Amino acid sequence: MGSSKLLSLLVTLYLLAPTSISSDVSLSPEELTQIPVKFLDFAKKPEIFYWMVNIRRKIHENPELGFQEFETSKLIRAELDQMGIPYKFPVAVTGVVGYIGTGQPPFVALRADMDALAMEESVEWEHKSKVPGKMHACGHDAHVAMLLGAAKMLQVFRHEIKGTIVLVFQPAEEGGGGAKKMLDAGALENVEAIFGLHVSSLFPVGTVASRPGPTLAAGGFFEAVINGKGGHAAIPQHTIDPIVAASNVIVSLQHLVSREADPLDSQVLTVAKFEGGGAFNIIPDSVTIGGTFRAFSKESIIQLKQRIEEVVMKQASVQRCNATVTFDDKSFYPVTVNNKNLHEHFQKVAADMLGVQNIKENRPLMGTEDFSFFAEAIPGYFYYLGMNDETKGKFETGHSPYFRVNEDALPYGAALHASLATRYLLENQPKTTLASRSLHDEL
Ligand SMILES: [Zn+2]
Ligand SMILES: [Zn+2]
Repeated sequence: MGSSKLLSLLVTLYLLAPTSISSDVSLSPEELTQIPVKFLDFAKKPEIFYWMVNIRRKIHENPELGFQEFETSKLIRAELDQMGIPYKFPVAVTGVVGYIGTGQPPFVALRADMDALAMEESVEWEHKSKVPGKMHACGHDAHVAMLLGAAKMLQVFRHEIKGTIVLVFQPAEEGGGGAKKMLDAGALENVEAIFGLHVSSLFPVGTVASRPGPTLAAGGFFEAVINGKGGHAAIPQHTIDPIVAASNVIVSLQHLVSREADPLDSQVLTVAKFEGGGAFNIIPDSVTIGGTFRAFSKESIIQLKQRIEEVVMKQASVQRCNATVTFDDKSFYPVTVNNKNLHEHFQKVAADMLGVQNIKENRPLMGTEDFSFFAEAIPGYFYYLGMNDETKGKFETGHSPYFRVNEDALPYGAALHASLATRYLLENQPKTTLASRSLHDEL
C-alpha cells in the first residue's frame, strides 16, 4: 500500500476526516508533485479559508506589541488544544512551539511572528484595531493565521508525516529580537531546517518571491551624545558649540559608505535623529544624534559599527567636544541568508503548487528581519507571499497606517507552509534509516 497511500490520504483531507493509518510511505516523483496542489485545494475550502480569516481578524482587532502578545498566544494555544497538537509554553515570554508528527527526526520548523506595531490604524473597516495606538500593520496577524491553517491541515494526516514539524510562534519581531530569545530558549533544538514567510503587496496574490543567499540586511541602531559647553549664541567664543561639532560628525559619517565601503557592497548609514537646543539665542550644552546602519555581510556590519564609533569620537574632539556612542544590541539583527539547498527545495515545491511563472526573484532589501537569527543558527529560508490584487484597491506596503492584508493570500501561505515541511521530511529522511531499511529489505 506504500506509494499511493499519502495521496489517498490527501484525498481524504477533502472530507476533513482524521485518519490514523500509519506505515512507511515511498512516493513517486509524480505523487510528490501532487502534494502542494492538494494542500492548496484543501486550504481554499471554505471551512479552512473562513476559519483562517476569522482568526486573522480576531488578532487584528486586538494587536499586541513585542513580548506582550498574551492574548494572541492564548488564542494560538486554544486552537492547538482544540486540534490536539502538543506544544511548549511559555518560550521567550509569549512564544509557543508546537509539534506535529512522530516526535522523531528529522525535525523541520515553520515560523510565524505575532507582534503588532505602535501606530494608529487609519483603515476604516469592521475589524479595525480596537486598541488605540497599536496596529497589525506588518501582516503578522495573517502570519499567525496561516501557520495555524497549516497546522490544521498537517494534523489531519499527522500519522503520515515522516518526522516532526515544529510550529514556531515567536514574539517581538519588530525590533525586540524575539527570534533570538526563542533560540536561546531552545526552540530549534534538533531542528535541521526552518521556513518563514512574509506577506508582500509588491507581488500579486498567487505568486511568491525570494532569492538564494543574502536577502535582507544586517542592521542596528546607534545613538551619540556630543557634549560641548553651552552659552550665549552671540558670544560663541565663550562656548564649545556641540551643534557645529555634531554637524561635522554627520558629514564625516556620510563618508563611511561613500568613501570607505566597496561600491559593490551595499551599505547604508542614516542619521535620522538630531536633537539640540531649543532657542534661537542659546548654544546648548549637548546634542544627541542617532540613526541606523545596514550592510549585507558580517564583516561589513562589524567594520561599519567600529568606524561609526571612531568617527563620532574623533570628529567631535576636533571641535573640542566629548562624545559617547551607544549601540542598541537588542535591536541588532544579522543578515538574513537563504540557504541554497532550501532555495532549490522551495523552487520545486512552489513551482508544483503555483507554476514556475509565478515564482519571482526579488532583489535584496536593506530592511532587516529577525528570522535572520534562526537562519544564522540552522539552514533557513525566508520568502515573500504575494497578496496584491489591483481589483481590490491599492495595498500599501508594511508599516503604513493604511496597510491592509488581502485575505485571499491566506490559503497560499498555509498550503506553502504545509507543503514545504511535508516534502522536506519526505525528501530528507536520515540516510542511516534508509540504509538499514534497504538492508532489512534484502535480508
Ligand atoms: Zn514590520
Ligand atoms: Zn513583518
